Amino acid sequence: MKEVLIVGGGLAGLASGVALAEAGYRVQVLERRSFLGGRAYSFIDKASGDIVDNGQHLMMGCYRETFKFFSKLGTLDKLRFQNQARVDFLDEHLGQTTLLCPSWPAPLHLLGGLFKLKGIGLIDKLRALLIGGALQTKQITKKFGHLTVDEWLNKCKQSKEMRERFWDPFSIATLNEDPKIAPATLLVRVLQQAFAGTKEDSTMVTAKVGLSELYTEESRKFIESRGGKVLFKSSVTGFDITDNTCQGVILKTGETLKADFYISAVPYFALNPLLPKKLFETEYFRQWKNLKSSPIISIYLWFDRPITELGFAGMLGTRLQWLFNKDVLFTRAYHKGQLLTFVISAAYGFTSFSKEKLVEIALEDLRKVIPKSKEAKLLQSLVIKEQNATFSASLLTESVRPENTTPIKNFFLAGDWTNTGLPATIEGAVLSGHRCAQEIIK
Ligand SMILES: Cc1cc2nc3c(=O)[nH]c(=O)nc-3n(C[C@H](O)[C@H](O)[C@H](O)COP(=O)(O)OP(=O)(O)OC[C@H]3O[C@@H](n4cnc5c(N)ncnc54)[C@H](O)[C@@H]3O)c2cc1C
Repeated sequence: MKEVLIVGGGLAGLASGVALAEAGYRVQVLERRSFLGGRAYSFIDKASGDIVDNGQHLMMGCYRETFKFFSKLGTLDKLRFQNQARVDFLDEHLGQTTLLCPSWPAPLHLLGGLFKLKGIGLIDKLRALLIGGALQTKQITKKFGHLTVDEWLNKCKQSKEMRERFWDPFSIATLNEDPKIAPATLLVRVLQQAFAGTKEDSTMVTAKVGLSELYTEESRKFIESRGGKVLFKSSVTGFDITDNTCQGVILKTGETLKADFYISAVPYFALNPLLPKKLFETEYFRQWKNLKSSPIISIYLWFDRPITELGFAGMLGTRLQWLFNKDVLFTRAYHKGQLLTFVISAAYGFTSFSKEKLVEIALEDLRKVIPKSKEAKLLQSLVIKEQNATFSASLLTESVRPENTTPIKNFFLAGDWTNTGLPATIEGAVLSGHRCAQEIIK
């Protein structure tokens, strides 16, 4: 039985481990923490007893590799799929507006949805057809590789209103970066996957349970029931790479573990110190040295009474960008009032703020878009700042993200930051893990 060592027990590491265990490999996953899930995990909040994610995650119907992975684990029923693509927005002046895509074939359903969106003039809506046209192209890099999202949307003549009400919130949420920095290629690819395939692709998908419950324990069981192992608190301090071959991984304890194949499934900033310095003399290993991180802030507010019936909504004209209603999305441990989560992506300007200040901002913004929230009493709050939530996507990153195979023939790279063609997402991470597994099996 061939052996594979995987460093990192996030989505990428576990997806590769499950695929390889299924194919008959003996898999060992080494995870530095005492739990799996990496940047997509959940925990029990001691004060409330509620399950809390380290940041609300939204998926889409086009997350094919993710659903393949969850289907192997038997956890697809823990996801909530929309019947029809629908996103609500809350706006201080317009109130609630809704993008509801009719049951037309894709991508006409998106255009149909945009046409009915309130607060946008007819001419601006007609200009959305220019985006529909761009989604037909196959040569994304050639056509859009030199453009930021901002430049591309301007080129497609999207008005200020159309941008504020749809394109900018969608782009910031999916790319976790300012449209003036983020590359158009990534947005076009996301739009193609979501809106140019089937109409189910553009539906929003949320978890009915905490993120960890979706895949971590079931992955461990899947791997271990096929002869593999998942080792916790196993921090790797280096890959032993000599003679163009990975010879083993060195643990913090000083022990060396050996296998036939090795997958690094850690983020770029965690990988760099694990590699022998000499490797950085080659272009392949040097290329990602300028990758940087982009932060996400999640603010959890527990109220004494229900404030909204919406499951989630984009917030327009506010510093908060999205609201998620945990009482609609999943069943809470004990039900008292309402638990709302707010997200600020590409939150550079907010990471230095204190927890108290961020809660104050959240309350102010919430009161703007849902005035009746003024009457509710705040019972408890929690702020999670993920400084390294994703890599910062820019024009540069798309040419430096590495392939999953490396010049070292038994050493592979998985992770949302590798060259998946997608932004740093659950789908990108799982895809990278599946690609590594396919390369090894090949
Ligand atoms: C707040 C937040 C919100 C997000 N929202 C969304 C969303 O709405 N939709 C979406 O699709 N995506 C979202 N994402 C992105 C998604 O969570 C990530 O793309 C994905 O989880 C990355 O998985 P990964 O396996 O590549 O890396 P990670 O999850 O970072 O996994 C790497 C693992 O390696 C381990 N490790 C690191 N160093 C070592 C070492 N030396 N030895 C052993 N183990 C090590 C780490 O502990 C970790 O478990 C969000 C991310 C965050 C943080």
